Amino acid sequence: MDFALSARAEDVTGRMWDFMREQVFPAEPVYEGWRAARGHDDHGHPPVLEELKTEARKRGLWNLFHHELAGLTNLEYASVAEITGWSPTIAPEAINCGAPDTGNMETLMLFGTPEQKDRWLTPLLEGEIRSGFAMTEPDVASSDARNIQTSIARDGDDYVINGRKWWTSGAADERCQIFIVMGKTDPEGSAHRQQSMILVPRDTPGLEIVRHLPVFGYQDQHGHSELRFTDVRVPASNILSGEGDGFMIAQARLGPGRIHHCMRAIGMAERALGLMVERAKSRVAFGRPLAEQGTVRELVARSRIEIDQVRLLVLKTADLIDKYGAKGARTEISSIKVAAPRVACDVIDRAIEVHGGAGVSNDTVLARFYASARTLRIVDGPDAVHLRGVAKEELARERPYAG
Ligand SMILES: Cc1cc2nc3c(=O)[nH]c(=O)nc-3n(C[C@H](O)[C@H](O)[C@H](O)COP(=O)(O)OP(=O)(O)OC[C@H]3O[C@@H](n4cnc5c(N)ncnc54)[C@H](O)[C@@H]3O)c2cc1C
Repeated sequence: MDFALSARAEDVTGRMWDFMREQVFPAEPVYEGWRAARGHDDHGHPPVLEELKTEARKRGLWNLFHHELAGLTNLEYASVAEITGWSPTIAPEAINCGAPDTGNMETLMLFGTPEQKDRWLTPLLEGEIRSGFAMTEPDVASSDARNIQTSIARDGDDYVINGRKWWTSGAADERCQIFIVMGKTDPEGSAHRQQSMILVPRDTPGLEIVRHLPVFGYQDQHGHSELRFTDVRVPASNILSGEGDGFMIAQARLGPGRIHHCMRAIGMAERALGLMVERAKSRVAFGRPLAEQGTVRELVARSRIEIDQVRLLVLKTADLIDKYGAKGARTEISSIKVAAPRVACDVIDRAIEVHGGAGVSNDTVLARFYASARTLRIVDGPDAVHLRGVAKEELARERPYAG
């Protein structure tokens, strides 16, 4: 067991930190100012992001999420993803490693035909367009994906899609040109073969973007949208992999993506802890800096311990994916999907507490970070679903001694 970063990870995380300090953190107020000037419900694309993307490419910080593209293992990329979590609104996109594009790009790399790759993967890899993943539906409990009702019906050389989706991240951004849509091609088939995934270009007639949902009142720049599909017709060649492969594709795409989310959550927690420490040292209450009050010291110490614990678990999971694939790390992926967002929520909550009223204002990143970390406990499967998987494995585990 070697806990040191590899030489390659050392190099790329060093360059990533330079990029964050020199470009990303200074860009945060520019990004926020641009959005504030247009009203936060606007989903325009702040120009500073394109400047950051150009700079990231120059520095060789581009498409780092995939081994075949950048040469990094999941374990090595995990440390990069953590750093982007320090500025989660802009850093992941700046290096073309934002969700849901990474998952969609991986899906196209794994299951796309040469034509599908040429049309959609290439511009995604270039950062020219963005994409959405439409699985969740308002009318059914979508944490159990077997419930998904959207119909994908074969009609001659086409498929015709009817249904409603919501929480399709990214759809408000006009650069989002392609959706991967999950639905049923065979409602009578066996439970895990009813579903398929199909590519639907944004401008297809019958595809309507109904509204953009706020998260705790915040409108994301890229939006989380409700979509309606009414007789949406696409060529049969838009199917991914084949009819009935929807579940298989979903499993393949979610493993690495969860590592990315979890590492970014740890990055958010680290930044929150840094803010907590600075505030505790500088704020004086009842004659002493907060940092000298026992209760505050405990908040700081517990945060450090919990962050370090959860980081080790996430890195172990990334290593397992490298060695055995997402399937071989299924239980660990569920464990970290529960553990990392919870730690992030707790640490950010403590940082808010130490900041008093300032903590819930928009004067620091903390309120927005909290909204994002809390949301992560639902996105990609709520805690309850992942706990179910971990419990199942634990109940079946053989033990060296039963006494
Ligand atoms: C900001 C944001 C972005 C998102 N982005 C996307 C996206 O891009 N694409 C997409 O398709 N979806 C996206 N989602 C949707 C997300 O993945 C779903 O909300 C999630 O999977 C839960 O599905 P649901 O909302 O239908 O909840 P439901 O399935 O209705 O579940 C509700 C609650 O029931 C409980 N529950 C469920 N199962 C069990 C169980 N077995 N035991 C005990 N309790 C249980 C849990 O507490 C759960 O939170 C996003 C969501 C948010 C909030």
